[in-house]
Amino acid sequence: MKLVLLGIQGAGKSTQGKLLSKELKLPYLSSGHIFREMAKKRTKRGRWLKETLNAGVLVPDDTTVEIVLEYLEKSEYQKGFIIDGFPRTLAQAEAFANGEIAIFIDVSDKEALWRISGRTDAREDETLQAIRQRIQLFHEHTAPVLEFYKKQGKLIKVNGEKTVEQVYEQIVKKLTKLQKRLKKQQQK
Ligand code: AMP
Repeated sequence: MKLVLLGIQGAGKSTQGKLLSKELKLPYLSSGHIFREMAKKRTKRGRWLKETLNAGVLVPDDTTVEIVLEYLEKSEYQKGFIIDGFPRTLAQAEAFANGEIAIFIDVSDKEALWRISGRTDAREDETLQAIRQRIQLFHEHTAPVLEFYKKQGKLIKVNGEKTVEQVYEQIVKKLTKLQKRLKKQQQK
């Protein structure tokens, strides 16, 4: 099974992704992590990525798709995975389209900013300005991605403004239901 996690920064994607990874025995990965690792390299691309990440803007689609798809070719991802942070634009979703199910964790901007400002382990690219910028970009670019999965009947939407356990329960329940429906459709 291939799952993608969608939601603004602070929605709880990595928390839920890691819980799901344990339960479903699927590897968890995030495009942000892939890019941060590459940004540490003292190469031209590394330096460019570092600047892009610190500004809070998106890495261009063609570069993102190339890097993420190549990464997913690793043997550990062949049986499925849970990816956080990708696809973030319609162009990425269209280039990816690989039988995946999308999980959208919905929280308001206000709640997300409140949660992030309370984090004590903020990264170098987590300035308030960069976070605001990412939230704005999410609304601009990721709304069409939600629509893309919704049209295919492959979108799960959960209320992220609940406890970790409650959000997790909602995901598992809706995922089970969706999988049953997809199985029935396949049998027809
Ligand atoms: P994240 O940890 O998901 O917030 O990602 C951190 C940064 O990595 C983002 O602000 C972007 O600069 C870049 N990034 C991660 N995933 C993507 C993506 N799917 N498309 C474009 N840029 C991305």
